[in-house]
Amino acid sequence: MFIELLNIKQNNARVFRDDLYPSLGGGNKGRKMHNIAKDITLKNANAIVTTGGIQSNHCRAVAIYAAQNNMKCSLVLHGDKDRFSLETGNAMIMRLSGAKIIFADDSTKIGSLMDMEMNKYEKSGFNPYYIWGGGHTLEGGEAYVNAIGDLYNYTLKENWVPSYIFLASGTGSTQSGILAGLDKFKFTKTKVIGVSVARKSEQAELIVKDFYEEICEANNIEFNDNEVIVLDDYLCGGYEQSNKELNEISDKSILNYGFVLDKTYSGKAFYGMLDYIKKNNIKENILFWHTGGVFNFLAQ
Ligand SMILES: *Cc1c(COP(=O)(O)O)cnc(C)c1O
Repeated sequence: MFIELLNIKQNNARVFRDDLYPSLGGGNKGRKMHNIAKDITLKNANAIVTTGGIQSNHCRAVAIYAAQNNMKCSLVLHGDKDRFSLETGNAMIMRLSGAKIIFADDSTKIGSLMDMEMNKYEKSGFNPYYIWGGGHTLEGGEAYVNAIGDLYNYTLKENWVPSYIFLASGTGSTQSGILAGLDKFKFTKTKVIGVSVARKSEQAELIVKDFYEEICEANNIEFNDNEVIVLDDYLCGGYEQSNKELNEISDKSILNYGFVLDKTYSGKAFYGMLDYIKKNNIKENILFWHTGGVFNFLAQ
């Protein structure tokens, strides 16, 4: 769903409300998981193993999906165990879902713990399905090729085309899928600006570019080699870190804009967008791609 963005000194700003994605708790992880689920059905899997942090939107979407479909589910989590047992938001949904929770003391152990869970399910006669953290899979990225189809229909109906799309970039699969989608639907004048939530630009841009190419190849999309931009100017010190400006944007988001911007993802992207359009004096049409984060907001 698209809305006009009010209250910023930019006449032509709109928002793609993917935070309102209508299933699995919404957001980009809801959309990715919905698409990954098609592959799970195809492969007749009946158990899922995945990983994420204690407030992972991805793990939340997977946990809900597994519960709804009576599937076994193992979540290998990294982070503070005590915080996980106390916090609301995604942590609470994971706790309530009935998923098996396994803690990795440090991130180097995640892979082997996930493999162990896969083996255990196989040995007990299940057909388990492995999902990379963040839903960073081909199917996860392809969900965004389809989402650009929605944008395409919107541009026809409204006669409005964005010159810039801003979004939060983590694993990069959402940005890669958007870039591939723009090629598929022949948006030749739309720039995508990812605002990194954790990685440095150079590493993030390489990953997004590779995955963008991979999605194009897998879907027979003519690769247009669009510029890949991931800004690392708004990290505020790193993943889940914040500063005064970001806190203010997040705290007042629902009052100022009518939607929630959390400090880990969408708020960072919004903060980056406001600063970037000001510094670069951008007057063209912009689209803020709201990737979600409502449960992160509620847990902070
Ligand atoms: C995971 C996440 C992102 C980043 O998406 P990637 O596809 O991993 O780059 C952005 N916003 C929210 C709310 C997320 O949960």
